[in-house]
Amino acid sequence: MAGMVMGKLNYFNYCALAVMAVLLISVAARHMLKGRRNRYFWNLLLIVTSAVVLDIIAVHFDNSGGMYVLEKYVSHCAYLVMVNLAVPVYVIYLACLTDSMYRLRDSIPLQLVLAAPYVVIFELIVTTPFTHLIFYIDDAYNYARGSLYIWLYIVSAFYVSLGVVYALRCNRLFGRGQFLAMLAVFPIMLIALAVQVVHPAFRIEMFAHAIGILFLLFMVQKPEERTNPVTGYGRDFAYASDIEMAVRNQKAIRIILINVLNYKALRDILGYESMTALMNRISEQILSICKKNLPKVDPYYLDRGRFCLMVGKENFAQVENAANLISDMLKKDIFLQGMNINLQVNVCIIKCPEDLNDFQSIYAFSNEFEEYERTGKVLTAEEILKDGRYIIKDIEEIIDNAMNKEGLTVYYQPIYSVKQKKFVSAEALLRLNDEEYGHISPELFIPVAEKNGVIHKIGSFVLEEVCRFIASEEYKQLGMEYIEVNLSVAQCMRSDLAKEITELLEKYHLRPDQINLEITETAASSSQNIMMENIKKLSEGGIPFSLDDFGTGYSNMRRMTTLPLELVKLDKTFTNLQDNPKLESVVRNSVQMIKDMNMKIVVEGIETEDMAKFFSDLQCDYIQGFYYSKPLTKDGFVEFVRKENKK
Ligand code: C2E
Ligand code: MG
Ligand code: MG
Repeated sequence: MAGMVMGKLNYFNYCALAVMAVLLISVAARHMLKGRRNRYFWNLLLIVTSAVVLDIIAVHFDNSGGMYVLEKYVSHCAYLVMVNLAVPVYVIYLACLTDSMYRLRDSIPLQLVLAAPYVVIFELIVTTPFTHLIFYIDDAYNYARGSLYIWLYIVSAFYVSLGVVYALRCNRLFGRGQFLAMLAVFPIMLIALAVQVVHPAFRIEMFAHAIGILFLLFMVQKPEERTNPVTGYGRDFAYASDIEMAVRNQKAIRIILINVLNYKALRDILGYESMTALMNRISEQILSICKKNLPKVDPYYLDRGRFCLMVGKENFAQVENAANLISDMLKKDIFLQGMNINLQVNVCIIKCPEDLNDFQSIYAFSNEFEEYERTGKVLTAEEILKDGRYIIKDIEEIIDNAMNKEGLTVYYQPIYSVKQKKFVSAEALLRLNDEEYGHISPELFIPVAEKNGVIHKIGSFVLEEVCRFIASEEYKQLGMEYIEVNLSVAQCMRSDLAKEITELLEKYHLRPDQINLEITETAASSSQNIMMENIKKLSEGGIPFSLDDFGTGYSNMRRMTTLPLELVKLDKTFTNLQDNPKLESVVRNSVQMIKDMNMKIVVEGIETEDMAKFFSDLQCDYIQGFYYSKPLTKDGFVEFVRKENKK
């Protein structure tokens, strides 16, 4: 009988213990304990480690010869209870990885299938001291296998096959590396089991478990990629892949977005270390609320002060309350390193699939929410989406669509000359119309286009449209001086910008002073050489430049003096002076300063007669705004100027 073997070898167990110790320490040290996936992995670690320890103890008693009957029974029973628990827990971990735990939770038959075999062998194991069915201590005080011992293997094999079938069914949810790692665990265990059936003296099974889990940690749990070591929250990568998983499983979820709006300002003041400590403190405070209200939450930290909480169905009822509690808590000052820190926070609840139901839009929304202005109350995605400024579909696709289907149009907003008392120029403003979403503001799509490079196509389109318009007969008859065209920062960084514009002017036989290029303060204050070169080249070629949105960004006054600017456009945020005497003083003095530098002034965003009068009296040169006209189509613009300039 195999059970007669004396002198079992514990060496593999010691190795297994070493591996498990490393795993436990590294997982705990990285705070990888938050979120369901991490919790199940941690449970798996604890179960396997205790099985290793119990096996070492059991083998120790086995090898110590006679007596110790009670100790032998207890240690072997405890070991078998633990080691047989590891396999079903592994299957549950798989369900967790595929984000299909909710199916298990909703289905009693599934729970029975999963639990019943273990319950049966559990009872067999704990009663074996009396029944001797699984193992017994024989008359020579040796451990011997009982008649039903084989059932332990059968049940393990059952769970393993369940896991394999499950993984195969869900294989499209994983990358190939992950998928293979998950499956690799099974053959490792099977080989170990086989060895142990034949040679019970080699205690190799636990070592196989340990290696399997090591594999999982690096291939599936991926601590570096998934977990933020500072907060223990999931990272952007984890957030993206978990949303993707939830969408593919058509699982209903709620996401709470928590965004620290003054993150950048705080980081500049506090520096890296204090900022890290602050983010850490915030993450702890958020979790302390979750502990009570959303016990099953998955937390993520997406950098730059953006926290996300993903909540499953079982906690839906508490989401709103928790979001309010978090919002209220973060409104209070945080005391850190002797400073009282005040956060500006936006909190928003997304309901999936009700508000958003595909990966791209959920992910894009989470990113765009960063730029949403502060409201002080808990927002919902529903109301933000109604607002119309936020897009539900992939904006790149919308832009591409618009380019192909003539959804992009250049509008012209007339600009009034105070001295000449007529309209002398216009600003070209892009309009995007989407079949599904209607009009989309350039303030929304230009920044996206800048990031993904589409701005170059868009920019060329606008330039060509404007040049073609200037070359047309109807424009020539209007007696306009020039048309202003907005240049984005990304466009200014293209090495062939000057060439493109010069060629366009040649193609349409235009003088360079028939257009005027608007750059923003960001472009003007940038230290990129290529920008300065472009601006220099173009302005030497005779093209005038304006500084757009003066006063809104970071005004580098010294830099302004070095740029070849002819016009400065006072931003519309400066035009509403009602009851703000200080702002009025800023405006008066800015106007004076710009005049002293020999530049002309365009005031933007004039909406009322009073505003127009105020700036005319200040001797500003040009006025642009809804008071005179909104941006108009080409034909509308021609008609408008013809009529107005005749008066
Ligand atoms: P901007 O260059 O400062 O353009 C002025 C914006 O103010 C326009 O918004 C215009 O419609 C709006 N506006 C004009 N008068 C008034 C007024 O009286 N009251 C108010 N409240 N607003 C007024 P729009 O067309 O939505 O464009 C927004 C921004 O998008 C522009 O700001 C510009 O930075 C950018 N943009 C527009 N077209 C282009 C383009 O062809 N290329 C690039 N790179 N950027 C563009
Ligand atoms: Mg502009
Ligand atoms: Mg502007």
